[in-house]
Amino acid sequence: MNILITNGIILPMNVADDSPKYFTGHLAIEGNRIAFVSSNKADADNFLANHKENCKVIDATGQIVMPGLINTHTHVAMSLLRGISDDVPLMEWLNEHIWPVEGKMGYDEVLTGARLGTLEMLKGGTTTFVDMYPYEEAVAEAAETAGIRAYVSPCSMDFRMAHFEEDWRAVQKRFSNSELVSMLIGPHAIYTCSPENMQRSIELSEELNTGIHIHHAETKDEENTVRERYGVNPTEYLNNVGMLKRPVLAAHCVCMSDNDIKIFAENNVSVAYNAQSNMKLASGIAPVAKMIDAGINVTIGTDGASSNNDLDMWDEMRTASLLQKVSTLNPCVLPAYQILQMATVNGAKAIGKEGELGILAENALADVILVDFEKPHLYPHTNIISELVYSCHASDVNTVIVNGNIVVENRSCTTMDESKVCSDAQNTIDRLLNQ
Ligand SMILES: [Zn+2]
Repeated sequence: MNILITNGIILPMNVADDSPKYFTGHLAIEGNRIAFVSSNKADADNFLANHKENCKVIDATGQIVMPGLINTHTHVAMSLLRGISDDVPLMEWLNEHIWPVEGKMGYDEVLTGARLGTLEMLKGGTTTFVDMYPYEEAVAEAAETAGIRAYVSPCSMDFRMAHFEEDWRAVQKRFSNSELVSMLIGPHAIYTCSPENMQRSIELSEELNTGIHIHHAETKDEENTVRERYGVNPTEYLNNVGMLKRPVLAAHCVCMSDNDIKIFAENNVSVAYNAQSNMKLASGIAPVAKMIDAGINVTIGTDGASSNNDLDMWDEMRTASLLQKVSTLNPCVLPAYQILQMATVNGAKAIGKEGELGILAENALADVILVDFEKPHLYPHTNIISELVYSCHASDVNTVIVNGNIVVENRSCTTMDESKVCSDAQNTIDRLLNQ
């Protein structure tokens, strides 16, 4: 099916634009690609005349038309664990609450959690996510049936290397021809992977020609552990073992010295900034303003829903900006348009899709969202960039298109039975907690 979106306020997020550009106009989709973005009504009329038989027309009056959001670090199946433990220290949270329940989760439970998480993300306008978890084959299955774009990272940890090898092979075998699912290699973190297993991740990344997704420098405790074991800090360690020669997406990056930032900038590492998770687990504040000044590609991730506690990228964008402002005592850092770039074009760059995702342009992949601006909390319309970042909610997203398919229409998901997804999740967590 072809799609013509008319009379919307188009926010293209062109990679070359340092300042926001938007205009009232039209966007057409042919197959899974954007055919044109235009302010000229004649272009829309011609497209309709040429595709009369097979064209869905969406009147976007009063709506913002923009690229879908890219969540660059999450564990989508952890949506199942939302709220099971809050307000406790990180290691107590992991050892006594999260890991015991995760230990009972197999393929089916991960699939159920991933269905819940992908539903939440799609309805909030996230069209691509980068995941890391055991049973990524199940996350890939959930993503493909939901119709959301996924970069799954089978997770390697010392105590489960056999499962890691099985999982990446299964994803590769089953989803190598998928238009929506791609794979990254996911060494969990330096402190959970031996030097041999870190080398295995680097080798696989080379062999499969894919990037690496890793938790990095999340807490002071992690830094101390790495220093005790290897005599260097986490960033120096990644550099020494040769991992930074590969394309790396590093999540958290809270404990970063000026020299660490220089090392990441020199090696073109992309960073996933997880402001809310770092706040909730009291991990600290990533020096994002400094990283951006150094030229690092910084993106936005929610982390899993049990340390956030949602997958709402609008809320995350707002927090991402406010936390940097208050921590640097500088209201000028991370202005609204830069935040939108982090959640779109920068996210695309981190997964090697610059110019194809996170942007509305001719021939780009058709991942497009419509945000309803006819809401009291978004009036008056004086600066749509400010309204999107500082006032919008996930529930303002009205329509979501991924790879040319309408997956959310008038706030309803077209690919999933929403009440069944929620009740399955409820039944599953009730059973796991009572086992
Ligand atoms: Zn994480």
